[in-house]
Amino acid sequence: MHHLINADLHSHSTVSDGTLAPEALAERAHARGVELWSLTDHDHLGGQARAREAALDLGLAYLTGTEVSVTFAGETVHVVGLGFDADDPDLAAGLAATRAGRLQRAREMAAGLARAGIPGALDGALAYVEQPDAVTRTHFARFLVERGVCADAREVFRRFLVDGKPGHVPHRWARLGDAVRWITGAGGLAVVAHPARCRFSPTAEYALFSEFAAHGGRGVEVVVAAHDAGEQQRFAAIAEEFGLAASRGSDFHDPQESRLDLGALPDLPGRLTPVWQPLAGRVETRRQEWI
Ligand code: AMP
Ligand code: MN
Ligand code: MN
Ligand code: MN
Repeated sequence: MHHLINADLHSHSTVSDGTLAPEALAERAHARGVELWSLTDHDHLGGQARAREAALDLGLAYLTGTEVSVTFAGETVHVVGLGFDADDPDLAAGLAATRAGRLQRAREMAAGLARAGIPGALDGALAYVEQPDAVTRTHFARFLVERGVCADAREVFRRFLVDGKPGHVPHRWARLGDAVRWITGAGGLAVVAHPARCRFSPTAEYALFSEFAAHGGRGVEVVVAAHDAGEQQRFAAIAEEFGLAASRGSDFHDPQESRLDLGALPDLPGRLTPVWQPLAGRVETRRQEWI
C-alpha cells in the first residue's frame, strides 16, 4: 500500500460521540475518496463489525480501530489502536473497564450544571447516546446547544465543560501502559492521538513519548484535524526522534460540528513511515490490487 493512499484512520460513529451510523460513515468516507478507513469510537468496539462489513462492501480497505481514554501525568491523553483482533477478550475487558466510570461522571457533571442553573442535563445528554456507558462531554454539548444555552459545541466546552467550569469533573481514565498493552496484545498498533491537544510541558511531553515507546507504542498522529501546519511539522519531528510511524485522520464526528470532513487531509510528510506500512498484514480488503 503506497505512501500517498487516502487513509483516514480516526473517526467516530453513533456508537460513541459521532452522529452517523457506522454504515453511513463508510458511505461518506467512500464518497469523499477515502481508500483506507478506520472507525475509532471512544473506548468501544461496538461498531467494528458493521463498519468493516460496510467498508468491504464498498471496496474500502479497513483497519479495526478504537480511541482509548488515558490519564498520564494528570492529563487526558487519547491513544488510538489500529489493526487489532476485535474479538480479543483482554482488549474488550480493558475498554469495558475504561467505560465503566462514564455514567457516574455524567451524573456529577449534570449536578454541576444544575448548580449553574441548567437542570435536566443527565437525561438530556443520555438522549443523544446509544449506550449510557458511552456517554461523553460531546453529548452534554449537544444538549446545551439544543437548549439554546450556547450557539455551538465549541462554546459549550469553553464555558461549561473544561477544567474549572461548572460541568467539568476530574476523571481517572486507563493507564498508558495498560492501553498500549491491550492494543498490542490484540495484535494491533498503538498511536498517540492528536498530541497537540495535550497541554503538556516539554518535559511531560518527552516523558509521554518515552514511556509510550517503552511500553511498545509505535505510532503518532501527525496529520489530524486538531493539528495546524506547524503542529504537523512538530509531531513529524517527534515521530522521527522516537522512531514512531505516522498516522493521518480527520477525527470526524458530525457533518456540521466537525471542522474536517472524512479524507479531507493533507498528505503525510514523505520522509515518515505511514502506520499502514507496519499494519499492511492487518488491512482487510476485497480489492485484489492491495492483496
Ligand atoms: P470525554 O471523553 O467525555 O471527555 O469527551 C471527549 C470528547 O469531547 C472528545 O472526543 C471530543 O469529541 C469532544 N471535545 C473535547 N474538547 C472539545 C472542544 N473544545 N470542542 C468540541 N468538542 C470537544
Ligand atoms: Mn469525540
Ligand atoms: Mn480524541
Ligand atoms: Mn477522536
